[in-house]
Parts: sequence; C-alpha cells; structure tokens
Amino acid sequence: MAVREILLLGNPLLLQSCDEVRRDELESLGPVIQDLHDTLLDFRRRYNAGRAIAAPQIGVLKRVVFMQINEPTVFINPILDQLSEDTFELWDDCMSFPDLFVRVRRHRSCQIIYRDLEWIEHREMIKDDLSELLQHEIDHLNGILAVSRAIDGASFSLRSQRRLLSR
Ligand SMILES: [Zn+2]
Repeated sequence: MAVREILLLGNPLLLQSCDEVRRDELESLGPVIQDLHDTLLDFRRRYNAGRAIAAPQIGVLKRVVFMQINEPTVFINPILDQLSEDTFELWDDCMSFPDLFVRVRRHRSCQIIYRDLEWIEHREMIKDDLSELLQHEIDHLNGILAVSRAIDGASFSLRSQRRLLSR
C-alpha cells in the first residue's frame, strides 16, 4: 500500500463525475481504501490539515470517500438528502489546492445515505463541520471543486495570507 500522488487543481480528472461502486467491486476496493488512508495521513503530517479524501483525488474515479477524524469511516456511493435551507459561510480548503482558501456557502445540515464495506446502508443526519466536509467530498465525486463554489471574486486567499482573513 502506498502514499499516492494527489491530483492538483488543473488536472481534468478532478472535473469528471465518478462511477458508482458495484457490489461485486467491493473486494477490489481494499487497496484503494488503504491508499486513501495512507495518502490522507501523509498529507496531514505535511500540512496539519485534512479530514477526508475522495477517491478521484488519487485518480480513482469511483464514488468513495475516506474520512478519518477519530475513527476511519468509508462512505461508498454517498448521496445527500434533506439539505437544510439554513446555510453558512466558511473558508474552505482542499488537498488538491493546499495553498488556497476559498470562501463558500454550505448547508448547515443534511442527511447522508451511503453504504459501508459490508454493503450495509446507513442514513445519518449530519450538521455543521461534518455537514460542510461531506458536501465538499461529495462534490468531488461529481467533479465539482470548492473553487467552483466561490461566493464571489473576493472569495480566494492564499494560505500565506490566512492571518489576514476574518471568519
Ligand atoms: Zn477537496
């Protein structure tokens, strides 16, 4: 298993919509999950950031998200439902453009429906940090990057200028 190269902004693969995982593909997913884990933890060591990674970020165009906050969680074929009308703004970052922050608006809460590695379906209500994080990750599966969600022309900042940002 390995730390994989993270595709960066400008790579057209990041703009492609990913394919659903079929049940008979589950076994072949093992090495991909391990690579997502290794790549996320390597990024975290270097940038002190990174809570989750989507498979297309390592060039695997499948609908898989790997998240590690306390425990590792794998989301297979995740979709969002019940998006709240209530929204909030934040400075978002991404492993595919680690030096850039983008001001975006996300839904305060939503329901995530996904399968796990046993193909069991889960439905969970998520809010705040988790809600915005998984909206970001599921956007990746649809070929959408946070830069496309920028609120306006003033919504970009280099990491080096972060100290100048107000919340
Ligand atoms: Zn991202």
